[in-house]
Amino acid sequence: MTDWTALIRDVPDYPKPGILFKDITPLLADHAGFTQVVDELADGLAFDKVVGIEARGFILAAPVAYRSGAGFVPVRKKGKLPADTLEASYELEYGSAAIEVHVDAFNPGERVLIVDDVLATGGTAAATVELVRRAGAEVVAVSFLMELSVLAGRDRLPGLDVRTLVSV
Ligand code: IMP
Repeated sequence: MTDWTALIRDVPDYPKPGILFKDITPLLADHAGFTQVVDELADGLAFDKVVGIEARGFILAAPVAYRSGAGFVPVRKKGKLPADTLEASYELEYGSAAIEVHVDAFNPGERVLIVDDVLATGGTAAATVELVRRAGAEVVAVSFLMELSVLAGRDRLPGLDVRTLVSV
């Protein structure tokens, strides 16, 4: 077991002054650490599809799907998916953002694991949960590498199985 948490790097003042960004690229570059977190993100869960949230969520969710024998579904920023989509908006610190999923991404009642790298305010994940449900599937859990607990993002995900591998 490697202490992969030491491979997450703090980058001050990115993307804006005053923000301390958690950079997972050193962890992704470390084979032992990367495989360990992929294994842990889905530990003990049963699901049919894994949703990855653009963009770092893709990097984690795709290997989780591969190792679990599940399908992978991308949730993307508005305008990036080619076929018919469902859309959900959420508030940012300044303004709002929108994400989309293909309307036919899931079969009715499929069990879905949502994966992303960082849970901050929870707005992105809450919008993703809404999309999965509107598309006719069931969210079994939402798994993150890291939770920024001071931002209380899990309060935006009531009643859900919210898992984070490390909380800071
Ligand atoms: P939220 O919607 O405020 O929870 O923000 C979560 C989204 O922003 C996720 O998709 C993360 O990838 C990204 N994010 C927020 N803060 C960080 C960070 O410190 N490092 C990496 N990604 C972050």
